[in-house]
Amino acid sequence: MNDSMTIVFWGVRGSYPVTSPASAHFGGDTPCVEIRAGSQSIILDAGTGIISLGNALAERAPQNLLLLLSHFHHDHTQGLPFFAPLYQNTTRLQIMALAKSDAALENQLTQIFAPPQFPVNWTDTPAQKITRRLASNARLDWNPDADAEPIEIHALHSLAHPGGVMLYRIAWRGQAVVYATDVEGYAYADRRLIAFARDADVLIHDAQYTTAEYLGLNGPAKQSWGHSTAAMALDVARAARAKHLILFHHDPQRDDDTIARIVTQTQTDALKITAAQQGSTIALKTLELFQPSRILEGDPIV
Ligand SMILES: [Zn+2]
Ligand SMILES: [Zn+2]
Repeated sequence: MNDSMTIVFWGVRGSYPVTSPASAHFGGDTPCVEIRAGSQSIILDAGTGIISLGNALAERAPQNLLLLLSHFHHDHTQGLPFFAPLYQNTTRLQIMALAKSDAALENQLTQIFAPPQFPVNWTDTPAQKITRRLASNARLDWNPDADAEPIEIHALHSLAHPGGVMLYRIAWRGQAVVYATDVEGYAYADRRLIAFARDADVLIHDAQYTTAEYLGLNGPAKQSWGHSTAAMALDVARAARAKHLILFHHDPQRDDDTIARIVTQTQTDALKITAAQQGSTIALKTLELFQPSRILEGDPIV
């Protein structure tokens, strides 16, 4: 069996989806990341990237799925109404997020799925749906396949984004991925996040703004808007001793050339730095990066 955890990027764009050819290389769908470990997987966020993931999953029914939401901003939930497994009665979908109660979480979802915003009600979708609130520092195991080694999930509630956001650390067989999107960097970096991301193999971190944008040198200053610069992401990655920093939640106005330039400008000998690319897959054990064209051709993940 494959003993490497793998990350599949289905959506990497922040704020809203883009279709510009100038952004096609890194991709235009909003956040959705799949973490695969052995025979099991976890879905992080339900931006428009989850639509393609759902279309792939729908061919593999029945499904026992877990979706972890970072928060309820539109770009992290807008793909859910078009998630094909929701319309299959063979699907069992657990959704977890920070909430006051399981019922409060379900209520959030019913607001996404309700006329006049959407023609189908949440409760009318055929899948079995289980909503479960997460406490601010939740810790749980995910093993729908009882014979498989569980995937460990750690959550951390951060207030470095308007309304708050949940960060996740996913660990399996000694490998760890930290998903920290929609977070704004603190001066000298967020000490809680550094501890949370300590020694992670991969840190996926918000890097929406350039430093000039953040400081307001070419428009309104973005301080307190809840997003980071690549330099802020690097501060956290370095302090946490993460092995690979993946810049994520690209600004919708950012073209491919500029993202590539940001990666080059952020490079350091201390760790590997790349930008999240829609359709790419990363195997943690080898940190090997496969190009999207290969994945779209249906190559097996190794
Ligand atoms: Zn966002
Ligand atoms: Zn947000």
